[in-house]
Amino acid sequence: MQKTYARVIIDISHEKVDRPFCYKVPEYLLEKVEVGSCVEVPFGKGNTLRKGYVIELMEKPDFALELIKEIRNAQTGVQVENKLIKLAHWIREEYGSTMIQALQTVLPVKQKVKQKENRILLRKCTKEEANLQAEICEKKHQVAKARVLKALVEDEQIPYTLLTQKLHVTASTINSLKKAGLVEEISELTYRNPLKNQGTLTKGKILSEAQEKIVNDVWEDYKNGIRKTYLIHGITGSGKTEVYMALIEKVVAQGKAVIMLIPEIALTFQTVMRFQRRFGDRVSILNSTLSAGEKYDQCERAKKGEIDIIIGPRSALFTPFENVGLILIDEEHENTYKSESMPKYHAREVAEELARLHGASVVLGSATPSMESYHKAMVGEYGLFTLKERLTGGCLPTVYIEDLREEMKKGNRTIFSDRLQELIRDRLEKKEQIMLFLNRRGYSGFISCRSCGHVMKCPHCDVSLSKHTNGRLVCHYCGYEQANVANCPECGSKYILGFKAGTQKVEESFRQLFGDVSILRMDRDTTKTKDSYEEILSDFMEEKAQVLIGTQMIVKGHDFPKVTLVGILAADLSLGVNDYRAGERTFQLLTQAAGRAGRGKIPGEVVIQSYQPEHYSIQRAAQQDYERFYEEELMYRNLGGYPPVSDMLMIQIYEKEEQAGILLGNRMKEYLKEFAFANRMSMIGPANAGVSKINDVYRSCLILKHRDKNVLKEAKTRLEGLLGSCGIDGKIVQFDFNPMNSF
Ligand code: ADP
Ligand code: ZN
Ligand code: ZN
Repeated sequence: MQKTYARVIIDISHEKVDRPFCYKVPEYLLEKVEVGSCVEVPFGKGNTLRKGYVIELMEKPDFALELIKEIRNAQTGVQVENKLIKLAHWIREEYGSTMIQALQTVLPVKQKVKQKENRILLRKCTKEEANLQAEICEKKHQVAKARVLKALVEDEQIPYTLLTQKLHVTASTINSLKKAGLVEEISELTYRNPLKNQGTLTKGKILSEAQEKIVNDVWEDYKNGIRKTYLIHGITGSGKTEVYMALIEKVVAQGKAVIMLIPEIALTFQTVMRFQRRFGDRVSILNSTLSAGEKYDQCERAKKGEIDIIIGPRSALFTPFENVGLILIDEEHENTYKSESMPKYHAREVAEELARLHGASVVLGSATPSMESYHKAMVGEYGLFTLKERLTGGCLPTVYIEDLREEMKKGNRTIFSDRLQELIRDRLEKKEQIMLFLNRRGYSGFISCRSCGHVMKCPHCDVSLSKHTNGRLVCHYCGYEQANVANCPECGSKYILGFKAGTQKVEESFRQLFGDVSILRMDRDTTKTKDSYEEILSDFMEEKAQVLIGTQMIVKGHDFPKVTLVGILAADLSLGVNDYRAGERTFQLLTQAAGRAGRGKIPGEVVIQSYQPEHYSIQRAAQQDYERFYEEELMYRNLGGYPPVSDMLMIQIYEKEEQAGILLGNRMKEYLKEFAFANRMSMIGPANAGVSKINDVYRSCLILKHRDKNVLKEAKTRLEGLLGSCGIDGKIVQFDFNPMNSF
């Protein structure tokens, strides 16, 4: 049946998308009207003609037939809105959600920004003077002032917002620098003066042969009209960013825009300034420190063509550029590229669809590519490039694997193996820096009874409570808190104690063993405020502490040339997780952590402590052998029928009643039975989720697997039909293709 009815939204904004109106598509417009088309429709009592956008086409109207009006006019093609609506439609079909949810994902939140002055801080003295003054400030422990001056040595001018957001500088600091005559503040008008800017733009580095080859190959394809996805496999410091910038320059010169995705945590001051130095005010960033108004402002600037390059986390994909030529995804293996709420899209896949809509190329980069991307490169779907050498100097570290079971046998009751202890003592003496990495938070102590085995659990969630130093027991899922108990609530025994080590515990043990050392600790507790993450890192950078203890946050981004020892305290904690990606995640984390050592001139050493030292993830990470890891992991995925060999659809069910989830799961399974049989699709479950209750909501899941994703998509569409007819919405059932996290 022909789809002759259209849902139209009158205003193209995030807020209005849930109020679509139904119109009839007249015969003569049938060819022209498609999802995303800009149309003219009679609206309201007076039937004034208004501009609207088609978000969906239907066979049947969802409105009283006799009242339906006709679309008057339609335009197709070029507008930004058209592409975004098409993209939303694709997301809806691909991941399963309502059209409204999909539109709310891609459309900007409209918020007028009050005309804000664009303030700039300008250096009023020579580079040398600024450097000298910075050193003087440091001696006087005026660290904030020193930070500003140091930043101004590299760049003559810095946007005010960047100073406050990324360097954590207050107005009073800046005022005192102004009084000293070292800096000057100027406003936007001066800034827009093109002459002023020219001096500050820097050219790119002369590319190495390997870098040059990547740029040439991609560009050759581009000029020949070939559009595809390329993967750059290169360790940190191998020059990937320099390659990205060379490509950006070429694409921008063609009048096209560029979207570059970076995990938020890696979007540091240094990175931002590196891009600003190269591209001036044609580049802008999006991140969570921007207000809704500021974000909207960046979208407006993109639409008006005031900027060509946007850098940001996955949502930067939806920047409304007229014409995108290139999409870059750095650290493409990162979990944060997958959305955790409906629609549960993956930025890499959306980027490829967006690239199709715009005729753009996609470039991915990573030191430890995801199994998915590397697999596509291996089967020839992606172009693959490898950068093997570290351009920043420093050699690869020596890695030791220590078997914790052996330590136990030897009678070592501490969390530091003999070798790690020996190396720590050595570094403490030499005054070199040490990083200690603990795989997960939450091990700070689940509290259990040594007599009866009872574990203290959150009453609302199916997870154990963790003991914090203030003595309270806390649930990391819902925030529930209670006082610690002296006796076991089950058997009354007083031997109810904490297990294992969290970062706090590591710090305590460290002090017991090695005495009074300056230590910084980074975990979710110490980084609660917006800026604390970068503050801790910059303190460590400035050598205010000799030891940094932390969770996986410390292994990303940032170079610490003085770190010569990295200790990974319990490498296998992430292997224990019931999740097919556990091996991959462990390999990535260990590789990144190991890569932290020996960035400077002195060679580094890495100690990996583990209970399963023979596991291939640990072995290959120690050898820094990605290719072999990939082969072994692929074998495992093949056996289990997991992505990237097979596709997987996890149907997540959230119910208030304990049994309801399993019942609903069985109903869906029954509904799909024939389809599954005819297509040889496997169905696993329904079963309780790994975490079976959060906030008093019971969680269960049904898993579908097939080598052809289209079969899974068809199954999803059928289920949507079933669920729709019983009024079950996305609060109860959610779809997650190839999930990234355990559920
Ligand atoms: P990645 O993105 O892979 O971590 P970068 O592009 O940041 O690597 O490069 C690492 C360091 O090497 C940077 O300091 C960069 O300025 C420098 N670098 C990159 N390419 C070159 C080059 N062709 N010549 C000299 N230095 C380079
Ligand atoms: Zn007990
Ligand atoms: Zn809880």
